[in-house]
Amino acid sequence: MLDYTTKEIKERSALVVNPAKTCQPIGAMYAALGINKCLPHSHGSQGCCSYHRMHLTRHYRDPIAASTSSFTEGACVFGGKSNLSKGLQTVFSVYNPDIVAVNTTCLSETIGDDLTEIIKSTDLPEDKVVIYANTPSYTGSHVTGFSNMTKAMVSSLAEKVLETPTTTVNVIPGYVEPSDMTEIKKMLKLLDMPSIMFPDTSGVVNAPNKGKYEMYPEGGVTIDELKATGDSVATVALGSFASEAAAFELEKKFDVEPYVLKTPIGIKATDEFLMTLLSLTGDVFIPEELEVERGQLLDVMIDVHHHYHGKKVAIFGDPDIIIALTEFVIDLGMIPKYVITGTPGKRFEREINEMFKAHGLEDECIVKAEEDLMTLHQLIKNEPVDILIGNTYGKYIARAEDIPLVRVGFPILDRVGHSYFPTVGYKGALRLIEKISTAILDKYDRICPEEDFELTM
Ligand code: SF4
Repeated sequence: MLDYTTKEIKERSALVVNPAKTCQPIGAMYAALGINKCLPHSHGSQGCCSYHRMHLTRHYRDPIAASTSSFTEGACVFGGKSNLSKGLQTVFSVYNPDIVAVNTTCLSETIGDDLTEIIKSTDLPEDKVVIYANTPSYTGSHVTGFSNMTKAMVSSLAEKVLETPTTTVNVIPGYVEPSDMTEIKKMLKLLDMPSIMFPDTSGVVNAPNKGKYEMYPEGGVTIDELKATGDSVATVALGSFASEAAAFELEKKFDVEPYVLKTPIGIKATDEFLMTLLSLTGDVFIPEELEVERGQLLDVMIDVHHHYHGKKVAIFGDPDIIIALTEFVIDLGMIPKYVITGTPGKRFEREINEMFKAHGLEDECIVKAEEDLMTLHQLIKNEPVDILIGNTYGKYIARAEDIPLVRVGFPILDRVGHSYFPTVGYKGALRLIEKISTAILDKYDRICPEEDFELTM
């Protein structure tokens, strides 16, 4: 399908082809689903809301519920106040959520609806909560939307009640899979660490099938837990793009100390996450279960090193995920030839360039933020790679160039399992190695000369 992509790369300032990102409300909606008994609400047209829900439903393969202000011509001319007010009242009386998390869309942002005023002037049930985030999609990406809604959780709900902080640590996992959130909670539990993780979509978008439809599955951070985040001793934000805004908001409002770390993908980033948690408790010992997991990961890294050494890889997707992934593939002995994100941010390029420099790769590797998949394809046409790592949209390049694609990130629309198996932590790193190795060796088995076709590698 992309067989006719040309090699010649031209500067494009006004055209994006196959963007490596999607729109802000999708991320905001995903974050909102991580609150227990929350109904996300999209303030805009039905078309936007259908797209956001459909994209999330296709990735998670679970029904994603969200309401909409359902703009028509009238709202476009006179503003969406009446639609939102009536919509919120209907949502509480018909669907009975504990909380509604409103995100804006391009249209309502362009009109300039004042959500604070609209929500304040709406007659709502006393025990119910409404929070909102501005998510104009003509800037940023779904990661920005996730960040904005996560920040809204603390700016609208967090409180400081106690004079001295508790020993609880807030953990913001970033835009990761529900399975990753479960893995992070597992690590926190093994460290015996009291924590509040938000948002938490585990048990919500990968809820078990119990034979009947539940509009609000059991998972998610509760409103009371979100309120208590102001009394915590520290906030650990995993992935600066998705998580640091909320952590800084807690610092600004209640002096909760922020620690901004990489998403714990790969051995180094997971070590750093665990060591930071230990430094907060004053403990020095890692639980045996984690030590065993780390040892097994190290063992496998050594076992497969010869498959990886010198292999060129192109990585694309969300900045927090691919910053950590780039570090991991370098640790595996690979060359991260092209590293591309659609989300804007010079900081992303800076961080990746520092990694290249530290490993003497600055002359052969390229990093680009706010870039699209057409440029990535053209770069690959000029100098091919051995493997692609990214979301489902990479499959067109993979097919055109006959390169194995390892699906990591959002969205994955054509495979299953990502909601149930983690990518973070030592277990996640092991799974990544398995996926990358399988992809490389499957291709080798397919194309290698007859005399090299072996049972063992
Ligand atoms: S109009 Fe804006 S908010 Fe709606 S789907 Fe498109 S990019 Fe997203």
